[in-house]
This record gives sequence, structure tokens and C-alpha cells, in this order.
Amino acid sequence: MKVFNTIAALQNELALLKRTSFNVGFVPTMGALHEGHLSLLKSSKEKDHCTVVSIFVNPTQFNDKNDFEKYPRNVDKDLEILESAGCNIVFVPNEKEIYPEPDTRVFDFGGLDQVMEGQCRPGHFNGVAQVVTRLFKIVKPCRAYFGYKDFQQLAIIRFIVKKYNIPVEIVACPIVRESTGLAMSSRNTRLCESDRAKASKISKVLFYLKDRYNSFHSVKEMQAYVAGELTLNDGFDLEYFEVVDEETLLPPDSLQQPVSKVGCIAVWIGGVRLIDNVNFLS
Ligand code: AMP
Repeated sequence: MKVFNTIAALQNELALLKRTSFNVGFVPTMGALHEGHLSLLKSSKEKDHCTVVSIFVNPTQFNDKNDFEKYPRNVDKDLEILESAGCNIVFVPNEKEIYPEPDTRVFDFGGLDQVMEGQCRPGHFNGVAQVVTRLFKIVKPCRAYFGYKDFQQLAIIRFIVKKYNIPVEIVACPIVRESTGLAMSSRNTRLCESDRAKASKISKVLFYLKDRYNSFHSVKEMQAYVAGELTLNDGFDLEYFEVVDEETLLPPDSLQQPVSKVGCIAVWIGGVRLIDNVNFLS
């Protein structure tokens, strides 16, 4: 496994590989790696000749400075994990390398950023688009892998790839969960043991809704159920639960509409913000 900190060194290596018509797969991450990230690497290893994983905690996507500072970082351990998982190339740039000048680009997401994460974290998706488009330009992968865990992010990346004609295939990978059902997340490491155990209730609630989908008559009814299960008394602070169309992210007119619907949730527990989602129709 080769590790590069600069764009020049990385591109040098990639140029050598691409001479022999190599397909490069790309997995962008913010580090603090877990099995969820590794599932993306595994998918790439099945399809591509070579996989580049990037580790960069992107400051422009954090609307909350405190969240940026507290974001878990452990590059040495990440490199060990990637080496044993058979990763070929790791790109670990510093901030100056990615942003030699401040990035002032403002992206149009066709309204996809007006709901859920976009509403709760102003500027978040613009920062995501800034870093992802820069990384795409640097790595020039044929495929890039993203998790359904960040469902709205996936929809937005698919949108900008189309809108800005970026020549990359986006591969979506399923959510990897702990045995308790809790969606794996770098942020889980910030939960104390009891909050981590409690947090498994989030996915239990989502899967209950999926199992009983036909017995709910409206989104409001679902929201009431979620709010009743994840209460302040039990240590949860529910930010939102929404049901949206998989592509447009618009709320359905009715639960019976035959379009793909996803239930998305953001909840605070023990000072940590967790997101999760479930596709009701797949
Ligand atoms: P992050 O390091 O949190 O920015 O995540 C990097 C990539 O890993 C994103 O495409 C995430 O959607 C994906 N990812 C994070 N957690 C999971 C998970 N539990 N299952 C699948 N993919 C995940």
C-alpha cells in the first residue's frame, strides 16, 4: 500500500498506473475508519484494478466549528486498517493541499439541499461538493463509492455529477450496521457505552416503521410514533424524521404512492448527532 500526502506525488503514481489502462476506484472518507468504510473499499476491489482511499476531514462542510474540532481523527490506525484490508493507495492531504486558496464556489443542487441535512446544517452540502469535486479532479477515478448511510449526500453527489458532467460512475453501497442495528459511524466512537447501547433504538424504530409500513396512514402518524419512541426523557433529542422520495427528496403526497420512499432521521444523543435511514420499499 502506498501513502501520498501531496497531489503531485499521487498523480505521478496514478499516471504510471493509467498508462496500462488501469481502472481506478475511489473511496473518499474523513477517516476514523470502520466496517462501513471498508465495505466501500471491498466493492471497489471487486470492480476496479486499483483503489484510492482518501482521508481528509474537510473543514468547509462543517457548519459547527466545535463538531469539526471534535471529529475523531486517527490516521495511523486508519492506515493499519487499510493495509490489512488490501487497499492500494491512500491519499492523506493537509488543508493547504486541498485549499491553497479559499474555495468560493457555490453549487446549485436543484433544491435537494433545502430539506433535512441541508436545512439543519446550512452550507454543509456546498462544502461536500467543494471537496468531492476537487478530489474527483485530482484522482480522476472511473468509479467512486458512497454509502447509503449519508443518503441525502448520495442524492446530491449523483445530481452534481450529472449537472456538471463529471465523468465518474457513482456506486452506492448499503448501510453497514453493528450487531445491535446501530448504523456504523465515526461519530459512534464519541458515545459513552450506555448511550451507544441506547442509540440502537434509532434503527429499531426505523425497522419497525418498515415492517408495519402498511398500517401507517400518513407521514404525520409516523412522525408521532418516532417522537413517542425517541423522547427527551430517554436521552434522545429528535431533530427530524422525514419520509422522502429517493431521487427528488420531496415528501410523498401519500404513503401509498408507488415511488421509492426513504425514512430519514437525525437524532442527538449524549451530545452526538447521529443520522440513519431506511428504504421502505426495497
Ligand atoms: P465519512 O468518513 O463519514 O465521510 O464517510 C465516507 C463514506 O463512507 C461515505 O460515502 C459514507 O456514506 C460511507 N459510510 C459511512 N458510514 C457507513 C456505513 N455505516 N455503511 C456504509 N457506508 C458508510
